[in-house]
Amino acid sequence: MPLLVMKFGGTSVGSLDRIKRAAKRVGVEVAKGYDVIVIVSAMSGKTNELVGWVSETSPLFDAREYDAVVSSGENVTAGLMALTLQEMNVPARSWQGWQVPLKTTSAHSAARIEEIPTDNINAKFGEGMKVAVVAGFQGISPEGRITTLGRGGSDTTAVAFAAAFDAERCDIYTDVDGVYTTDPRISDKARKLDKIAFEEMLELASLGAKVLQTRSVELAMRFNVKLRVLSSFDEQTDTSGTLVCDEEEIVESNVVSGVAYSRDEAKMTLLSVADRPGIAAAIFGPLAEAGVNVDMIVQNISEDGRTDMTFSCPVDQVARAQNAMQAAKDAGEINYHDLDADTDVAKVSVVGIGMRSHAGVAAKMFKSLQDEGVNIKVIATSEIKISVLIDRKYMELAVQALHDAFELEKAA
Ligand code: ADP
Ligand code: ASP
Ligand code: MG
Repeated sequence: MPLLVMKFGGTSVGSLDRIKRAAKRVGVEVAKGYDVIVIVSAMSGKTNELVGWVSETSPLFDAREYDAVVSSGENVTAGLMALTLQEMNVPARSWQGWQVPLKTTSAHSAARIEEIPTDNINAKFGEGMKVAVVAGFQGISPEGRITTLGRGGSDTTAVAFAAAFDAERCDIYTDVDGVYTTDPRISDKARKLDKIAFEEMLELASLGAKVLQTRSVELAMRFNVKLRVLSSFDEQTDTSGTLVCDEEEIVESNVVSGVAYSRDEAKMTLLSVADRPGIAAAIFGPLAEAGVNVDMIVQNISEDGRTDMTFSCPVDQVARAQNAMQAAKDAGEINYHDLDADTDVAKVSVVGIGMRSHAGVAAKMFKSLQDEGVNIKVIATSEIKISVLIDRKYMELAVQALHDAFELEKAA
């Protein structure tokens, strides 16, 4: 039997009515002759509520118990989706991650998928089951504990299943009808893309476009999964949504294909550290050990053998970074005057494969921010992206200005 993977995000399963609507979409594919693996998220808002309960109970929580709690939202939707399908006379059953078993590393709250054995689910398809409903976002560690894959992880569950079961396609149903040139909730000029290259999607996702989890795009690229993003609310045709595909499949594209943002960033500066060999290792080693995800790094010019070191990290990791730096200072591993934390910054990035062969993108970006009076605090570049750190209050303005400057509302 040909097989499809269909993933429904939080909003798409946010009420019993919406679960019914999603189940009908699944029914349409079953009627066409497909076996279907449905991956479900928790109902919208549920995971945030569970995370809140954990933090309130235990601010420096045990990540294993965090996973035990926050994975539970998906269990509810998986069961409800299977029941809804059964009510429609579609043979279906639910599977929690450990029942598959979806095996992961033991990196709790950010585990990586290691293996998805296919025999259990295939045996049930062999017995006449038409739909396997799998709880997204969760798995089981080698120690037998429940793990989760990081926020947005159900996308990754879906792509990993599509790869393991050699699915014809992996359809990600969400609350927008595809991937846009920027978040349509920030700019009403955002334009839906019919196709986007894996590499561009990978950059957009890692720079904050949460429509797909970064790891899901990585997996799709590696295993050549045919990945589509589409709306669970619209009627669908074979060409609906956005196809994430190889660069070669895209005929025309703009130099810049999208603008991404990440709202909750912090800029940390260690003032007056000794400028000597090994200082960067002495700073970033302890930060890594403390689990701080350092993003941009700038070392300033040194004067009299001392320099300032600036880095950015997610704003909710500031306390952890401060503790790690204080501990390194107390242990005599580093010496600094002060640690300045600017917690009101956001990162805005432009992304495009065309940047590889076009000069002037950075200049245009900086000019457009200048015209809006937006000050740039830190800059980082790679082959296909340019990111800047700016005051958070200018974030939406910057996204809109860049979208205009690069004329993203127009197709190539
Ligand atoms: P789900 O719950 O279905 O997983 P998410 O909230 O994780 O949905 O992702 C969908 C959201 O991603 C959209 O509602 C949109 O606001 C946001 N988004 C950010 N950047 C983009 C983009 N470039 N294209 C489409 N959506 C985007
Ligand atoms: N429910 C999880 C989250 O909100 C996983 C997901 O929806 O992808 O992050
Ligand atoms: Mg998501």
